[in-house]
This record gives sequence, C-alpha cells and structure tokens, in this order.
Amino acid sequence: MAIFVTRGKGVQRYRAVVGLVSMDAPRLNAYQRDAHLTSLRARAVACAPAQGGFLVELEDTLFYPEGGGQPADAGTLDGQALLGLQKTADGRVLHLLAEAVEVGREVALELDWARRLDHMQQHSAQHILTALALAEFGWPTTAFHLGPDRSDLELGQDGLDLAALAGLQARANEIVRQARPVRTRWVSAEEFQTLPVRSRILPEGFAGPYRLVEIEGVDLNTCGGTHVASTAELQAVALTGTERLRGGTRVFFLAGGRVLRELGQAVAHQRALGELLSCPPADHPAAVSRLQAELREAGVQRRQLQSELALHLARELSRGPQPASLHRPEADMACLQAVARAFLELCPQGLALLTGKGLFVLAGPADRLKALGPQVAAALGGRGGGGAGLYQGKAAELSPAARERALATLRSS
Ligand SMILES: [Zn+2]
Repeated sequence: MAIFVTRGKGVQRYRAVVGLVSMDAPRLNAYQRDAHLTSLRARAVACAPAQGGFLVELEDTLFYPEGGGQPADAGTLDGQALLGLQKTADGRVLHLLAEAVEVGREVALELDWARRLDHMQQHSAQHILTALALAEFGWPTTAFHLGPDRSDLELGQDGLDLAALAGLQARANEIVRQARPVRTRWVSAEEFQTLPVRSRILPEGFAGPYRLVEIEGVDLNTCGGTHVASTAELQAVALTGTERLRGGTRVFFLAGGRVLRELGQAVAHQRALGELLSCPPADHPAAVSRLQAELREAGVQRRQLQSELALHLARELSRGPQPASLHRPEADMACLQAVARAFLELCPQGLALLTGKGLFVLAGPADRLKALGPQVAAALGGRGGGGAGLYQGKAAELSPAARERALATLRSS
C-alpha cells in the first residue's frame, strides 16, 4: 500500500525496502508517471536466459510489478505474451519472455488494460474505504488483500456485519459520485512531516522523498500502486460480506466492473430460481423454506413406509421356503438391512439371502454366517463382512444364475 522513494547519489536505481520501494533517483517508470498509459515503446537494455525463458530489462516499462497488495500487470512485448515480472533487490523491473529480445532494440509494450483498470479500481476503493472507516467510524484497517474475484479489508473492530457497515458503503459511494480527483505527488521528508498523511509507519532510516496518493478531501497516504484519476472511475463500491477475526472483522468488497459482474450473476441466478420456483425474487426465501419443510416431512414419511415395507417383505420371506431369497434391483444397503433385521426377529434360526443394487446381505444365526458368508460372497463374485446375524458386502454378479449358485451353497450347508 505504500512505496517510498529516496533520492541518492547513484544512477537510475531502485531498492526494495521491507516490501516498499525506495530509489536512488526519481526516474519513474511509465506506470508511475501515468497509470492510464496503455502502450509504450522502450529499448531493451539487458536480456539474460532464465528459468522459463528470458529476463528482459527495458529502459522504461508500462508494467506494474506486484507490490503493496496489488497484483502484477499482464500484457505483451512485440506481440509476445508477458510471462511474468520480477523486481530485483535494487528495484529494477525484469520481464519474463519465452523468446529473447536483442539488446538495443526498441520493443512495443501493450498493457492488458482491463486487468490494470480492475486492479486500480479495487486499490483506489481500498484507500477510500480505509480512510472513511478510520475518520468517520473509528475503525482502523490492519490489512488489505486484492483477490482475483473479491478483495477484503481487515478492520480492527469486532462484531461488524453488513448492517453495521451500511453507512460506510453509502459514504464510499457518495465519494464515487462526487468524482473527486486522485493525484500522485512527491514530497520531501520535511514537507512530509507537516502533512496530515494517514499512515506514518516508515522503514527505519528512510529519508524521503515520499510518493503520496491524494484523494481530494478524503485521503492522503504514501502508496506506490496505480490508481484511478477520479473517484468516478470506480463506478460503485459494494460491501458483500464479513468474517469474524480475533479482535476484528474481515470485510469483503467489490469495486468498478466487479460490481456489475456480480450483479449480472446475481440477476441470472435470480432468473433461474424464479423459473424453478415460479415466483418473484422477493418470494424466493419463503418458497425455498416451504420446500425444505416439505422435504423433511417427506423424509419422515419415506422412512416410515420403508420400515413398514421391510416388515411386510420379511413376513413374506419367513412364510416361504428356506433358505429365503429376495432380489430388489434398486434396493440400497439400508433397505436390505432393514428387511434382514425384521426377518431375524421373525425367524431367528432362518437363512435369507437379500440382494439389491450391487449389494447383498445374508441374514442368519451368527454361528452359521461365519462359514456361509464368505461362500455366498464368492458365489456372487464379491466380498463381505459382518456380525450380529448379518453378513453383507458388494457383489459383482447378481444374475439369476449367480443368485441360484449362492442359494445352492446355503441349501447344501
Ligand atoms: Zn495503496
């Protein structure tokens, strides 16, 4: 969120300082001079083989390397896709490319503007939310993450929910509507001390000058990221959810194109639900709640009917020839076990082979199952195990012939 720049005696060199950037001379890259620039021509000054291709250094660059919570840019150099960006310890930006670039040659840089604008919208929205949360609500920001789909702020105030944050969202959107200018400027250490800069945490021994990002009348802070030029470019800021943190609250937010994208998805989901539920969106919660209640009731009835059916089938089996046999092609294990248990209640010394959807259960006296269970499993091309009167498992073969083989085993025992 903050980048510090220092003027020194060296040439055009950059130096990273605890995640921030300072430099020995204020020669800025194009992305720092103009965050809205989308194409540039620049000469290659170095090119070296590296893992995954070649690392190319240019005399100037359009591409913002990752920093301060803002992800790196994407784009092309002479039509070649930029595979990655690296920032050296002394602050130079290196471009990873699949093919080498001749040193001294001028290349055409094209920025993936949609990605950059998206990042600028989220980052500038974060400055507004952080500034308003502190100044108007007394909630300090302790962290910021810019994610690929949504971003979040960690506020040092616990127990916040979307209702409690409604005022913050309303104020942020008021600032967006006011189309306030966003400016970047450099100030000396002396001037810095006289300004109402929001965050004053600076790297040890840092002497300035400092890069400040000012959102007119809202925020003044040290920052090295790319920002919109007017708050109107944010279109809208939406707070979409919260998560509890120890002593704080994580607040998820969307800005710019992401608000419209999310809205588009929500509208599509609403339309699909409206067709499924045959009612307008306002009635969806009540309709789903009614369906859930009906489902619970149906579940209770189904279980009741299943146990009645199991009892009925077990009665039939107990009256028929032994060993008893029942094949229900769609029956699951719970269904087969229910019939088997009811059968044992009625016929503790009987034997019954029950088969279902790739499954079998053998019911009978525990002492007989020990030997018979594995034989039946083998006859059905399966494996099983069990205890307490039931031996069950999966069966690969449940054809009439296979079941007859299994029954023959039982009859001959
Ligand atoms: Zn920032």
